[in-house]
Amino acid sequence: MFRPTNMKYNKLMRKLLLGVIGLVILSGCSTTKLAKKENKTIEIAIDLNNVVDDKVQVTVNPQKIKEDNVVYQIPAIVPGTYAISDYGKFIVDFKAYDNSGNEMPVKKLDTNSWQVDNAKNLDKVSYWVEDTFDSEKEHKIYVMAGTNIEKDKNFFLNLPGFVGYFQGKKEYPYEITVSHPENLYETSSLINKNTTKETNTGDVFIASRYDEISDNPIMYAPKNSVSFNINGIDVTLAVYSPNNVHAAKDVEEALKKMVEAQTNFLEGFKTTNEYNILVYLFDPQVYKWNSFGALEHLSSTTVVYPETYTKQQLSDGMINGTISHEFFHIVTPLSVHSEEIHSFNFNEPNMSQHLWMYEGVTEYFANLFQVNQGLIDEQAFIDAMQQKISTSKRFDDNMSFTKMSKNILDEPYAKNYSNVYMKGALIGMSLDIILREESKGAYGIRNLMKDLSEKYGAKKPFKDDLIIDEIVKMTYPAVGEFFKNHVVGNTPIDYNALFSKVGVEEKTETVETSFFLDRSNTPFISVNGNQEIYFLKRSHTALEALGVKAGDILKSVNDEEINLQNARQIIGKSFQWKEGDPIKLKVVRDGKEVSLEGKMVKATTQISSLKVQDLGADNPKVILRNAWLKG
Ligand SMILES: [Zn+2]
Repeated sequence: MFRPTNMKYNKLMRKLLLGVIGLVILSGCSTTKLAKKENKTIEIAIDLNNVVDDKVQVTVNPQKIKEDNVVYQIPAIVPGTYAISDYGKFIVDFKAYDNSGNEMPVKKLDTNSWQVDNAKNLDKVSYWVEDTFDSEKEHKIYVMAGTNIEKDKNFFLNLPGFVGYFQGKKEYPYEITVSHPENLYETSSLINKNTTKETNTGDVFIASRYDEISDNPIMYAPKNSVSFNINGIDVTLAVYSPNNVHAAKDVEEALKKMVEAQTNFLEGFKTTNEYNILVYLFDPQVYKWNSFGALEHLSSTTVVYPETYTKQQLSDGMINGTISHEFFHIVTPLSVHSEEIHSFNFNEPNMSQHLWMYEGVTEYFANLFQVNQGLIDEQAFIDAMQQKISTSKRFDDNMSFTKMSKNILDEPYAKNYSNVYMKGALIGMSLDIILREESKGAYGIRNLMKDLSEKYGAKKPFKDDLIIDEIVKMTYPAVGEFFKNHVVGNTPIDYNALFSKVGVEEKTETVETSFFLDRSNTPFISVNGNQEIYFLKRSHTALEALGVKAGDILKSVNDEEINLQNARQIIGKSFQWKEGDPIKLKVVRDGKEVSLEGKMVKATTQISSLKVQDLGADNPKVILRNAWLKG
């Protein structure tokens, strides 16, 4: 998955800086023949023509039940997300019918489970599904894992929101019949049996087991898609743009360029024959979502982005940022994963310890391929890593990454989740540098992931507890030391020591700054849990001259009360302040209001940045750096 990395920071940036500096976001189906004979196929019908009160009806035929009772479950959590979703909240009017069409009693066991007794008489169950997009119910479903029901316009079917499984029958094959309006077209990686359809009104999708249902979203939307083949992969991008602002073909070139570079980077890896990108562009006037992004699947991804973004912002952010990350999930967790992921427990989640790999290495690859394939230069790659280092410091740097991963649904681990895209990627980078150093340039983390994907693969999971030892056995003792101290252990990583091996050095310089933001638009303020604006530890000369201290809560600026609504405007005004202008701040320090007055002085601050050193082509550090970034 990929979403904006730090909600608070992002909210701050959005609320304070939108329009000033722009919005920052971090950035085969097996046959069912055998089962058919035994008539085990779970038959699902979804009727998208008949939308009633923003809901659609789903009917489930489980075939003959042999047990006395049966429990139908809708997922509480799905792979690729790391928080409880409880899709069952959106199911209403759950009914069971016997073979004579009489209603049978149903017991609701919990948010996501319904039990039918005397199940031997059960013919079918049916229920109505409400979508998550415009629901007023409280829930924690990420928008890209959400569902949309918009009559005659768009159906965004993350299937766990619509289709469940009978306890003990998760491995049974599925057939999903969807009837839909003629003006809407399906995009999905599920096998569609209805390929010769004469009218565009129905589809019949098949899946070998429930995990495959959950892994294959379907979008129905008016035709707005492009398809092409690159390096053997059929890629389709389907876009729903509610106000017809964006066409899929507008970003086709950017997508082609990216997939080509990615598949070149992954040369030798088994990837996929097909990749479908399902994009829902939301209207920010309608949905006030401040977190959006994408969710990965083996051969597709669902993406939610603002429709108000320019074509350039969609190319840079959505294609090169978000979708490139999702595409690399083909490697992990989709082809290299533990048992926890392989046979996912949708209702009693058992998390894996290896988010450093699933999200971290994926996000690292999404950066590394760009420098490797010449899309960006070395310094730009180092700048991106530096950004990750500074963002990662906002999280707990003394937390064991494997422990955090295992317990990611609970606090205090859950609030460190976004660090998987920061420190997780940096763990990938650190391992890469160590591997290149130990192998004298010959073997990096890309080689390691390829070896692991050959050893395991999409159908063969590893044991969660044993994979680190195995990686160490496959590589070098230094890799084991790193895991022990910095991934399993809780010692922060000394990035400068690693960078020094590859001729990248930290330089500190004094630079001019504006009052609230430095020249790279990093703010000197942040927002706390009470939605108050406070000063960070990092300071500048003008703040020091006024006597501002770290932790001071900012109440007013030049007698104008400041809050999240008007902060952007006030910050905008501060860009005009000149030396000698009078400044008056009211802050709260240790619970007491303090007035800080003075004249604006020249504002300078220290900026440390990592620089690629020019050492000459035959310097051993440069040789190692080339192996690392270009190898
Ligand atoms: Zn991800």
